[in-house]
This record gives sequence, structure tokens and C-alpha cells, in this order.
Amino acid sequence: ATPTAIMVGTGLGAKRGVLFKNAIALETSARVQAVVMDKTGTLTKGEPEVTDVITAGLAEAELLRLVAAVERESEHPLAEAVVRFADAHAPGTAKATKFENVPGHGAKAEVDGHRVVVGNTKLMRAEGVDLGSLAVRREELAAGGRTAVIAAVDGRAAGLIGVADAPRATSAAAVAALHQAGVEVVMLTGDNEATARRIADQLGIDTVIAEVLPGDKAAKIAELQRGGRKVAMVGDGVNDAPALAQADLGIAIGAGTDVAIETADVVLMRSDPLDVPTALTIGRGTLRKMR
Ligand code: ADP
Ligand code: MG
Repeated sequence: ATPTAIMVGTGLGAKRGVLFKNAIALETSARVQAVVMDKTGTLTKGEPEVTDVITAGLAEAELLRLVAAVERESEHPLAEAVVRFADAHAPGTAKATKFENVPGHGAKAEVDGHRVVVGNTKLMRAEGVDLGSLAVRREELAAGGRTAVIAAVDGRAAGLIGVADAPRATSAAAVAALHQAGVEVVMLTGDNEATARRIADQLGIDTVIAEVLPGDKAAKIAELQRGGRKVAMVGDGVNDAPALAQADLGIAIGAGTDVAIETADVVLMRSDPLDVPTALTIGRGTLRKMR
């Protein structure tokens, strides 16, 4: 590897806000065969917004008050969206006690003497909650690319809160550019299969690995690396750090968490998905000059 080629590549990257942490990162960029992209906060803006509230046997304001009390204790982006919406549309707070976070599933707590569980279908199954008539509505939300936050009160399904997280403006173009460069693109997410599939379809991504628990993301990367395939992982969150470390090339979104940025080999300062193909192109150019 000639130091000049490395310097040129690093400089080119810096101009675009693509920070290669070292020469190996630059060289590896040239060899990437598959790019795995986290959905929330990477392909999407990571700014979820409530779009629908569907109740079953409770007044809407009451549902929002109970759910918001639980979500106020959670740091999940979905929880923040729910709390913001509830504060605007159903003011009046309730206090949750015995709060329990269930990573990759949701959260539970006690509110005004009621047992309130909020989260995904896996959590409802684990809690023995039957969705009843809400099951069809949940599927409709998911088919529309929305995430349904399911609420159960005292063991009974009480409502759904539909949340949408819009794709970043350049996500589809980034996927197209990667395909053009002969690179496979995979979406990796903890969100449910149908919601993820819908967003992947909008962006032109063929392969979706959904409903992955935070602790299992790195193992999914290892599976994709079988046979010596060079895999890059693009992520933004604390949950993504082990997967970024496992990947041959970890790429962090600049707007992401400190942990992701520290773990990554490449940082995209502009948080623009189009800078992923740019990074690989710069790597390839550098490698050509080194031969
Ligand atoms: P991701 O950030 O990739 O969507 P997570 O592993 O954080 O994945 O969560 C997976 C799923 O668990 C979410 O899509 C959501 O359905 C559910 N979930 C997790 N935390 C909460 C929460 N506080 N409130 C509601 N749902 C939650
Ligand atoms: Mg994320």
C-alpha cells in the first residue's frame, strides 16, 4: 500500500465528510461484497411520529394516558414519539411504578393500579395477551410500513398506536448505487417482518432480516460472513455497536450514538446514506492506485 494512495483516499473522503479511521478501513472498503443496513435511524430518519390511535374498549385519551405513563420511563425512540403525541392530544399525566424495560420487545409497568404492557406481538404473546379484533388492524398498519405499538391493560388488548418513521431522502438512491456497484444490500432490524418488508420494498432492498433482538445483530453479521464474504454494517445506535465491530467494515452514521461512532471504522459525518456507496468507491479507487 503506498502512503500516497492512502493519503489521497483519506483526503477525498474527508472532503465528503466520509472519515476513514485508518488505512485498513480504506482498503477494506474496496473489498465489500454486502452492505447490511440498520433500518431505524440509518435508512429511516429515526424520528418516529404517531399516525394512528386505535382503541378497543377504552376512551382514546385514557389509552394514551396509560401508555404514555409507561413510555415516559423508556428511552426507546418509539416511546418518545408516543409520549410527545400523548402530551399534545391527551394532557394529564399518570405515574408509572414497577417499570420494566423488555429490550427488543417493549416495556411494562403499573399505572393507577392497572397492569400496562406496551410493545410488539412477541411481547403480547409472552404475556398471554390475545389481540382479538386488533390483530387485523395491526396487520394493516404493518402492511403500510408502520410500527404498531400494542397496549394491553390488565391482560387485555386495549389499543394500537401506529408509528411511522419516514425513509431518509437518499436511502433509495444509495441502495440503487450499491446494486449498481455489484454489492448486495440487506436490511437488519428489530422491527416486525411486515413493516420492515414494506419499507425495504420502497427502497429496493431484496433481503430483510427482521425481528432481530439487540443482542443477536452481531451473530446475523457473522452468518452473512460465512465463506469469507466481506460484509459492511451501517448503523447508528447503541444496539448496533457489536454488529459494527463484527462486520469487516463498520460504518457509523454521524448523527448516531457515541458508541456507534467509536466502534466504527468509517464515520459518515453528513448522515447521508449516499455516502455509503461513496465510501466504497473511494476505497476501490485507492486500491487501484496501490496495485
Ligand atoms: P429497532 O430499533 O431496530 O426497531 P428494538 O430492538 O429497539 O429495534 O425494538 C424492536 C421492537 O420492539 C420495536 O420495533 C417495537 O415494536 C418493540 N419495542 C421496543 N421497545 C419498545 C417500547 N418502549 N415501546 C413500544 N415498543 C417497543
Ligand atoms: Mg437504528
